[in-house]
Amino acid sequence: MSRIFNFSAGPATLPEGVLTQVKEELMDWRGSGMSVMEMSHRGKEFMSIAAEAETDLRELLEVPANYKVLFMQGGATGQFSFIPMNLLRGKTSADYLVTGSWGKKAVKAAASYCTANVAAKADPFTHVPALSDWKLNDSAAYVHYTPNETIEGVEFHTTPETNGVPLVGDFSSNFLSRPIEVSKHGLLYAGAQKNAGPAGIAFIVVRDDLIGQTHAACPDIFDYAQVAEADSMLNTPPTFAWYVSGLVFKWLKNLGGLQAIEEINIRKSAALYNYIDSEDFYTNPVNVADRSRMNVTFTLPNADLDKAFLAGAEAAQLSGLKGHRSVGGMRASIYNAMPEAGVAALIDYMKDFVKKNG
Ligand code: PMP
Repeated sequence: MSRIFNFSAGPATLPEGVLTQVKEELMDWRGSGMSVMEMSHRGKEFMSIAAEAETDLRELLEVPANYKVLFMQGGATGQFSFIPMNLLRGKTSADYLVTGSWGKKAVKAAASYCTANVAAKADPFTHVPALSDWKLNDSAAYVHYTPNETIEGVEFHTTPETNGVPLVGDFSSNFLSRPIEVSKHGLLYAGAQKNAGPAGIAFIVVRDDLIGQTHAACPDIFDYAQVAEADSMLNTPPTFAWYVSGLVFKWLKNLGGLQAIEEINIRKSAALYNYIDSEDFYTNPVNVADRSRMNVTFTLPNADLDKAFLAGAEAAQLSGLKGHRSVGGMRASIYNAMPEAGVAALIDYMKDFVKKNG
């Protein structure tokens, strides 16, 4: 068996220990005589898997008792629409802080349901606009932001203040990479496939007083109150993705929780940014204070070198480094499961590439 270092933005690398456990339990989950994939979601085995995953996630995030934790399908993109359908509560507008491509998409989806005000927008997407430039509206149903913009590599390192208007965060690409101030949010959500598990499931943490006033056109299956009431099993949930995510939560708990993984993530991202900053050959365009710990973007002196860089990286067992097609250049996604050795191998390769092409 040979495993590469996978810098893909998502689906992304998973902890090796989790994959080994999945393999061991694949044919016969803990004496049940069946695979998790084959179990009834209503049976006692899967019910225990589901409940334990929720308990572990609550513990990791320190979720207060007045918040519901939901497991849903439709990815984070689905949430772009489910959020206005659930959280407008009779109001007609919501505010959006836009610091990258995903926030922009969230605005577009919300505009079908309400006036989606862009209360602040970075232009270009290389920084978080100063608080003094935000134009928040007191009448907004909620304020939406993207704590980590996966494509541009821009991250909020503090929680926005919204004067009592519920704050909604799309944590898809930095979920579980650091502690989150849950109680400062009305709702937070994330697709699993970067930091938390395989694609097919999304996690929603929502304050319970905000749900239950859903837009009339919202299908029951996307109504947070009904999903919560049914323990996220209004219909058949993505059982296998739920199970694997649960193993990732255990892995994180065993590692020491979110403070412990945050320290590792600070070390990994600092090593890479320090190298990029020390070498004229590579450039990262993001304001230093707003740089993402998860998605490190960089360009070479000219785009003609990109192909050779990527081919050499593949040959060195470093994959998934091509930047998003909308921005070009390179992007190293260094989520929780990317070992420090992977970042060190990337830096070694980058040094070698400069020697040959600089
Ligand atoms: N938001 C962010 C910040 C993302 O990075 C992504 C996926 N790259 C999405 C939303 C969309 O997620 P999904 O594919 O699960 O719909």
